[in-house]
Amino acid sequence: MIIIKTPQEIEKMRQSGRILAHVFRELMEIVRAGVKTGELDKRAFSLIKKAGAEPAFLNFRGYPKSICTSVNEQVVHGIPGEYKLNDGDLLSIDIGVLFDSYYSDMTVTVGVGKQSRENLKLIRVTREALNLGIKEMVCGKRLYDISARIQEYVEKNGFSVVRDLVGHGIGRSLHEDPQIPNFGESSTGPLLEEGMVFALEPMVNRGNYKVKTLNDNWTVVTADGKTSCHFEHTVAITDGGPEILTKV
Ligand code: MG
Repeated sequence: MIIIKTPQEIEKMRQSGRILAHVFRELMEIVRAGVKTGELDKRAFSLIKKAGAEPAFLNFRGYPKSICTSVNEQVVHGIPGEYKLNDGDLLSIDIGVLFDSYYSDMTVTVGVGKQSRENLKLIRVTREALNLGIKEMVCGKRLYDISARIQEYVEKNGFSVVRDLVGHGIGRSLHEDPQIPNFGESSTGPLLEEGMVFALEPMVNRGNYKVKTLNDNWTVVTADGKTSCHFEHTVAITDGGPEILTKV
């Protein structure tokens, strides 16, 4: 069941999203070659706490850190630690925040130092796929209009969308109904209504869409070892159209 949020609840989610966007702004300042992903995690933890919020991922189903840092062929759920960022790495940072009982969820992928042309295109296409998906989040459209739009744009550009991982509803839980695949058939699925809040998150692979999970039981990587990219926003459907609650 898709939970409809009241305007009061959306206001709380707006506050949660604002904190998360602030954390990203601060964190991006220190991303560079030579920095350990574990240092990014520590910094994010202190920024979230300082804002009076909680890191949503810490201890979530046993996850050991506050943020996910996925590098190059890692798609999602990379665990921060001793890895030192290198010039040319593609780094995605995924963070969830809990504030006043409401969650927000956001991911940004950045190139560390100089990037290949193909990586730059991958970043551009994934970011734009998210934007196009968000534009479909209006009353009267159907859920898989979002999915279809993302898939169409990504595949038109020669990349593939991950099938095993999907976006989700969000609110008083980090993951609520519905699941939002980044592939699907337009004009199908539940009708979109004012008060729905979704975490849209296209995960786009340079090569094949297939993924596998490493022995740490968290890190998801591309099966073919090619680079992957991920962007995510928490977005509310309002009477004025889609509102990005995690806008930086
Ligand atoms: Mg998410």
